[in-house]
Amino acid sequence: ETTAPAHFLRQLVRADLESGKHDRIVTRFPPEPNGYLHIGHAKSICLNFGLADEFGGDCHLRFDDTNPAKEEQEYIDAIKQDVEWLGFQWKGNIRYASDYFDQLHAWAIELIRAGKAYVCDLNSEQAREYRGNLTEAGKNSPYRDRSVEENLDLFARMTAGEFPDGAKALRAKIDMAAPNMNLRDPILYRIRHAHHHQTGDKWCVYPSYDFTHGQSDAIEGVTHSICTLEFEDHRPLYEWFLSNLPVQAQPRQYEFARLNLNYTVTSKRKLKQLVDEKHVDGWDDPRMSTLSAFRRRGYTPGSLRDFCERIGVTRSDAVVDMGVLEFCIRDDLDANAPRAMCVLRPLKVTITNYPEGQVEDLHLPRHPKADIGTRELPFSREIYIDQDDFMVDPPKGYKRLLPGGEVRLRGSYVIRADEAVTDADGNIVELLCSYDPDTLGKNPEGRKVKGVIHWVPAAQSLECEVRLYDRLFRAPNPDKSEEGGTFLENINPESLVVLAGCRAEPSLASAAAEERFQFEREGYFCVDSKDSKPDRLVFNRTVTLRDSWGQ
Ligand code: ATP
Ligand code: MG
Ligand code: MG
Repeated sequence: ETTAPAHFLRQLVRADLESGKHDRIVTRFPPEPNGYLHIGHAKSICLNFGLADEFGGDCHLRFDDTNPAKEEQEYIDAIKQDVEWLGFQWKGNIRYASDYFDQLHAWAIELIRAGKAYVCDLNSEQAREYRGNLTEAGKNSPYRDRSVEENLDLFARMTAGEFPDGAKALRAKIDMAAPNMNLRDPILYRIRHAHHHQTGDKWCVYPSYDFTHGQSDAIEGVTHSICTLEFEDHRPLYEWFLSNLPVQAQPRQYEFARLNLNYTVTSKRKLKQLVDEKHVDGWDDPRMSTLSAFRRRGYTPGSLRDFCERIGVTRSDAVVDMGVLEFCIRDDLDANAPRAMCVLRPLKVTITNYPEGQVEDLHLPRHPKADIGTRELPFSREIYIDQDDFMVDPPKGYKRLLPGGEVRLRGSYVIRADEAVTDADGNIVELLCSYDPDTLGKNPEGRKVKGVIHWVPAAQSLECEVRLYDRLFRAPNPDKSEEGGTFLENINPESLVVLAGCRAEPSLASAAAEERFQFEREGYFCVDSKDSKPDRLVFNRTVTLRDSWGQ
């Protein structure tokens, strides 16, 4: 149904299928399980799974798990859940790069046998010195000319655990003068005496990302290996391995520009720091840029997919405005979220001419356009309205309630404010109003009432907590704001305002975790999946009704 723009990867896949280069495509999404997925990952997921869906191919979910020190099962579980929540299903079993450790190790030995890899004893500092830089060629390692036999022996002993971390590394013998630094004898294997979440204590040598990625793609029959632009310089190395090893397929690597979003950070390292230092309440704190945070905040998977489609896929880096993402969720919730009323700052109203003890059951549509039924709302003598909807001395053009003025209660009668009751300090604690019994579902006789406000019945409404979330950072670029400072210093102190004692309409009693609503005149909200209880509802603000930033 969508007329998806033909971005360059779509065109490329189509051409590969039309030319018969492939009769079926295979892509993969390859996260490292060292943190939760963020909105940037959603772009990669939508691209890889989306291409496979669109062209009748397969997409694999493969954990790129070559760095056991930073990886955890908790992250694996969260990543699987997030991919499914976004609406995608991987082909076959979950895959792990570590499934291929035996094969990779055997291939490393083949490279040694072919004189294309050697064991190097330089420590990391020395290795850096030997590597040279962009303007200066590197120097050959003094260990580069070890014999095949010596290399085989040393690599076997590395694998057997004879040497401590960092004492030796296996390197490819390519070219220390190559203009592309990635070809200056890159590391294939490091010694790391670490327990691995999948392979346990089987290994104390682990393959590098570069030695793992392309070969894993080849083993899985991946046709299009799509990654972000910072790997463009790694492509010659990716291809070097594929042409120097007896792999069973020749995948191709393609790069696209990563997603950068303003007012947020999308780096697992920084997100982890926010969690570890307790600037936020966990990885799924609704202010985070993780997918689990968006879920908890009330974003729909469809709105995130829509966002990824709208921003497109290119090869030039740009920063996307957070407003685009907010537009996508407003668009979805406006069309689909049921309406409800919740008074955030309650002010009691007594309707003095309404019979005491009488209750009328009103029926309001759950949505102004979508045909999703009605909800019941009791009306009686005592109700709550929002404190902001009554002003003694309002500015010109104020359409709410003022002394002697009239307003319509949404889905109910027109009322007039007769008297404001104040406490000893002069604060308004209650309004005494009268209603016009002839205004239910019709306009009042002989006068125009412009304002409509929301309300809830006093006795039947549900006391609840409402969490008003806003952007986590106050600077568009939290890392390099004009005022300077690190992202931690640019946290928006008003990114969370908690309101207690709010009153929700009684139909919300049955709202389930994560259920989404438009609270009329207030914004879009969802039931918090962690803290909300049937007898103590907690609602999270997903997004305001209108964009108020940059005004
Ligand atoms: P981070 O910098 O947050 O640690 P990463 O790239 O190291 O991200 P991976 O787990 O390796 O995280 O990412 C899995 C896939 O998601 C990779 O193919 C990567 O290119 C892609 N990806 C990560 N961040 C973005 C982003 N901001 N935009 C688009 N794709 C991304
Ligand atoms: Mg990575
Ligand atoms: Mg990373």
